[in-house]
Amino acid sequence: MRALVVALFLLGAALCTVLGVLAWRRRGTTAAAAPLALVMAGLVTWTLAGLPGVLGLHLALLPAVDALLVAGVHVAVASSRVLYRTLPDPHFRPGRTWLAVHAVAGGLFTALALTDPWHGWFFTDVHLTGDPVHAEWVPGPAYWLHLAWTQHLLLGGLAHLARARAAASGVVRAQLTATLVSCLVPLAGSALALALPRLPGGLPTVGLLPLCFVVSGAVVGHAMLRRGFLRVVPVARGAVLEAVTDAVVVVDADGVVVDVNPTGRALLRRAAPGPLDPVGLPARTLLSGRALRELPRGQDRYPFEPVPGLHLDVRVTAITDGRGRCLGRVVVARDVTELVGARRQLEEQLRLAEQLRARLEEESVRDPLTGLHERRFLTAALGDALAAARRGGTALAVLVVDADRFKAVNDTHGHAAGDAVLVALAGALRRHVPAGGTAARCGGEEFVVLLPGAGPAAARERAEELRAACARLRVEVAPGAVVRPTVSVGTAVHPADADDAAGLLAAADAALYAAKAAGRDRVVAAGGLRVGER
Ligand code: GH3
Ligand code: MG
Ligand code: MG
Repeated sequence: MRALVVALFLLGAALCTVLGVLAWRRRGTTAAAAPLALVMAGLVTWTLAGLPGVLGLHLALLPAVDALLVAGVHVAVASSRVLYRTLPDPHFRPGRTWLAVHAVAGGLFTALALTDPWHGWFFTDVHLTGDPVHAEWVPGPAYWLHLAWTQHLLLGGLAHLARARAAASGVVRAQLTATLVSCLVPLAGSALALALPRLPGGLPTVGLLPLCFVVSGAVVGHAMLRRGFLRVVPVARGAVLEAVTDAVVVVDADGVVVDVNPTGRALLRRAAPGPLDPVGLPARTLLSGRALRELPRGQDRYPFEPVPGLHLDVRVTAITDGRGRCLGRVVVARDVTELVGARRQLEEQLRLAEQLRARLEEESVRDPLTGLHERRFLTAALGDALAAARRGGTALAVLVVDADRFKAVNDTHGHAAGDAVLVALAGALRRHVPAGGTAARCGGEEFVVLLPGAGPAAARERAEELRAACARLRVEVAPGAVVRPTVSVGTAVHPADADDAAGLLAAADAALYAAKAAGRDRVVAAGGLRVGER
């Protein structure tokens, strides 16, 4: 039995030594490594100092071994207090006063243990029993004080660790759980040793402590080597919330803002100028109604423009308890103003490009003989011009121009001569259509001219100019053969003669028919026709 206990002491010391060295090597990269190494150093000292007590030892050595044990316990407990604070918060550093108090207290307790034979404050008496000799101490006031001091440190640290573990998640939670388990085992061992100083075989229960350290060392070792303990730097969740560039607003079930991060604070002030601290205010005044809509579970995401020019991408997530009751919601808003601006610019550019492409396509489709626009372009241009005239309340004239007795030209001089005459007529039209107007060949020997802004009088005047220009043409279709073409023109005007495209074209056609009937080479206005002639 004694051999087994000695072996456990040595195994515990060896395990703690290895873990301590491993941790110490990582002290440069992980905040928790240095306190963990110190805890291990304290435990090794504690374990080794306990060994002589189990083996039986010379009385003269007792105070020195006790002092070593007290020092080991003190280092282990004080370092574990620092470790429990550092694990959940890597930025934690013990204050100077705290360090000084604990260094002085540790030194005092060690000195008291060392000088115990003179004052007996640590142990009032020592009973030596058995063979080999067991030292059985009768604890004095300094012993109880030291015990209270260390237990207070340890329990306070554990309470902090348990709170941090409850708030943690993922790998941090696993690490904190491992740490908690690893310290609960020796704590339970110490409690047992206090309650039951001797085991049934007569061996002091304190002898179990190294076994506890073997167990807790194994847990920490597993966490270190297999679960990334000391590798992943735990970050406090609160720090993440403070650091994220998204606005985070937590709203409770009654719609009151209960938490908001700095970005959220700034954004809320931009969205609804008001008090500096929105916590405690109804969220309805700060956020859109949709963020507050009943959301028993799940997520909602939508764009929101609280004030003109501020575009937010809002996500609302309901927070529910285990039974699915709504506890509140987390509203995460991202300022996407720049993105929205860029997207709108892009859309505008795309729209312009598309307009340009459509116009180019229409422009590029021209009558191959005369180079004038074709009917398809004219239809679109008439629609646009009519819409513009309606918007601006202005007039629009449509002129239908038709070559007179053109069939005879073909019949007399041939088709090629007819083509040449068509080209000449088209040229005359192009030259005499005023800026802003449009001329198109709408089939055979018929042309249509649009004159935006021209009322009945201007239309008639322009039509007359065109007719006269055509009549002045002399087209030499063959050596010595000259054709002198004429055209008849029918005019109609929006809004006087018709209001829509088909009506305007029909009215102008009717006027053209009247011009042909009246003898050709003339202009007739739809407005001048009797009702029956239209
Ligand atoms: P009106 O004064 O009543 O308009 O008599 P018209 O002879 O001009 O009218 P009609 O509709 O009888 O004849 C039109 C002719 O135009 C018939 C067709 O052969 C000719 N034509 C149509 N397109 C072309 C073309 O591209 N080139 C040539 N050379 N002739 C064409
Ligand atoms: Mg004709
Ligand atoms: Mg014709």
